[in-house]
Amino acid sequence: MSRVYNFSAGPAVLPEEVLREAAEEMLDYRGSGMSVMEMSHRSKIYDSIIKTAEADLRELMGIPDNYKVLFLQGGASQQFAMIPMNLMKNKKAAYIVTGQWAKKAYQEAQIYGEAVKVASSEDETFSYIPDCSDLDIPKDADYVYICENNTIYGTKYKKLPNTKGHTLVADVSSCFLSEPVDVTKYGVIYGGVQKNIGPAGVVIVIIREDLITEDVLPGTPTMLKYKTHADADSLYNTPPAYGIYICGKVFQWLKKMGGLEEMKKRNEEKAAVLYDFLDQSKLFKGTVRKEDRSLMNVPFVTGDKELDAKFVKEAEAAGFVNLKGHRTVGGMRASIYNAMPKEGVEKLVAFMKKFEEEN
Ligand SMILES: *Cc1c(COP(=O)(O)O)cnc(C)c1O
Repeated sequence: MSRVYNFSAGPAVLPEEVLREAAEEMLDYRGSGMSVMEMSHRSKIYDSIIKTAEADLRELMGIPDNYKVLFLQGGASQQFAMIPMNLMKNKKAAYIVTGQWAKKAYQEAQIYGEAVKVASSEDETFSYIPDCSDLDIPKDADYVYICENNTIYGTKYKKLPNTKGHTLVADVSSCFLSEPVDVTKYGVIYGGVQKNIGPAGVVIVIIREDLITEDVLPGTPTMLKYKTHADADSLYNTPPAYGIYICGKVFQWLKKMGGLEEMKKRNEEKAAVLYDFLDQSKLFKGTVRKEDRSLMNVPFVTGDKELDAKFVKEAEAAGFVNLKGHRTVGGMRASIYNAMPKEGVEKLVAFMKKFEEEN
């Protein structure tokens, strides 16, 4: 068996330890005689899996008691609709457009009400985070929406926007559990887990209880009401049971690693290895304004499309895979999520140095 260094933006690298444990438990989960995949989601044994996962996530993030944790399906993209359907009481919301995912959420919200674009960085190909200290937010906006880490463009909010008292809703798909967060600053934090936590098929929504009501837009399907899932502790219907089990293992792994403070430290060290190299390289260049750089997704270019392609090809042959940039951006992107060891980034940089000397 040989594992590569996987720089995929998502689905992405998972801790090897977690995968090994899951493999060991594949045929017989702790004496049950069956795989977690084969279990009733209403069984006692599964109940303990999902409850433990939730408790560990609450502990890791310091989630207060007045927030619900929901394990849902439909990916982050389904939240683009669920959020306005459930939260747009005044049929108005403010959107900050910092990349494709934020733009998609903004466009989806327009189906349900008035989505107001209060800031954008599209003028410079989303290579920065706009100043959000004094935005013109409509008084009757139900919420302010952000994508906190822009997976495709490699930017991250270092400071949350001044929402002027409005509820903050954040898509954290690609920075989930990468550093500590103050949950109380948000009304809703959500993300697909396939970037930094687990296998595709699970989306986690952390939502303040007062935002969970029956007062949703007319025609909202039962399955798309937060209340449906909150009332049933994510077991209204069959949840993505196996995916939640793997997420639970990753939560345990994070706790063992020292929690989110420690992850932040590691992620900063890891990202610095790559950014420091990019800053002095004569061949490779980062594409993002320095102060807005993501710790998770690092886009870079040579400035020459053919050379980019050559790099991606040779890197792959050397065991560094999925470095090709997003199809809409080109160049390269190294996603260096929690489970990417520092050694992987160091070896990538050594490879980049060699490539620079040779080209
Ligand atoms: C990947 C991603 C999405 C889309 O996730 P799906 O689960 O595929 O719908 C949305 N937002 C961000 C920030 C992402 O990185």
